[in-house]
Amino acid sequence: MHVLLVGAGLSGVVIGRELAEAGHKATIIDSRPHLGGNCHTERDSETGVQVHVYGPHIFHTDDAEVWEYVTRFQRFMPYRHQVKTTARGQVFSMPINLHTINQFFGATMRPAEARAFVEARAETGIDDPRSFEEQALRFVGRDIYETFFKGYTEKQWGCSPTQLPASILKRLPLRFTYDDNYFFHRFQGMPEHGYTDMIEAMADHPGIDVHLDTPYGAGMGARYDHVFWSGPLDGFFDYELGRLGYRTLDFERFTDTGDYQGCAVMNYGDAEVPYTRITEHKYFSPWESHDATVCYREYSRACDAGDIPYYPIRLVEEKALLADYIDRAEATGGVTFVGRLGTYRYLDMDVTIREALDTARTFLDCEKRGKAMPAFVKPPL
Ligand code: UDP
Repeated sequence: MHVLLVGAGLSGVVIGRELAEAGHKATIIDSRPHLGGNCHTERDSETGVQVHVYGPHIFHTDDAEVWEYVTRFQRFMPYRHQVKTTARGQVFSMPINLHTINQFFGATMRPAEARAFVEARAETGIDDPRSFEEQALRFVGRDIYETFFKGYTEKQWGCSPTQLPASILKRLPLRFTYDDNYFFHRFQGMPEHGYTDMIEAMADHPGIDVHLDTPYGAGMGARYDHVFWSGPLDGFFDYELGRLGYRTLDFERFTDTGDYQGCAVMNYGDAEVPYTRITEHKYFSPWESHDATVCYREYSRACDAGDIPYYPIRLVEEKALLADYIDRAEATGGVTFVGRLGTYRYLDMDVTIREALDTARTFLDCEKRGKAMPAFVKPPL
């Protein structure tokens, strides 16, 4: 069979690779001039630093098969993600840990004392937190919520945390130790030569041909036995029912000599500071050494037509529209929607790869049994 993969990010390339290894032919197209989608990395021409062009991407997972998969294509270097936050005139440690709590309350509490102290300030009457705000008030209480989460989240998502799902906050741990590793996964690292290099290695197979600067054109899919669409779900239908809401990011690049901020990511919790965070890219490659430094100041805003979609918003109205697009997708046939944009979900890289592997397996299984490939292997709702 000959399949078309629209989008050369992790979803498209991993599915293409798996199907090519199983003896199929895979054509991958992307409208952009590079592989890697929003994980794309490249050397900054002025400083020589490897930059995460579309914002910070840190590889972390508990999925041993996914870790083994990525390390087949590139050596992963040890990397520990450390994030600080500037709020109310001080620098604090993130995610919220014993150091943050002791500094914030001017205390010297031990773990059990801090746990009891935070628990006493938390709004424990909230039994089943549904929104981001309820989740925060239930677990960290109002002071910590308002200092570290409220302003940042309003800037990042452009709406009140009362409207956002609790799942967004559940991405972050709350620790009663001094462990400030941003993630708690077993496997964590950075590809030695960047994500794009890793993804190029995945696409390097005799059964795969890649066409960059090639947008999907009407009727293109008809020339293939199946299409995997990792572009925006609503985009496949020419936005006929309306647009699913996304946040997009603007990056303000600047350079300096030496070291700018002393860590990879500095968040800005105060609502008055217009940007959400500053990323200093050389910290993503601690094994390299560079005299100069390059940073991106990151601003979040509503995504208009023509902007690059980053974060699916998934508020109540988007979910209703999403349900309509799902119906359309399921009635289409011959197309499977995958990845962050194709299923309109906030996905980390490891989950994207896991789902891509599962999608390829489902495809091979359907082929063996003579069954139709579903529109979604992972239902978006
Ligand atoms: N968040 C926050 N303050 C912070 C860091 C994160 O309020 O200092 C909230 C914010 O709503 C953000 C979410 O937690 O969107 C998830 O944070 P994460 O660092 O996982 O975001 P990403 O790096 O994926 O943008």
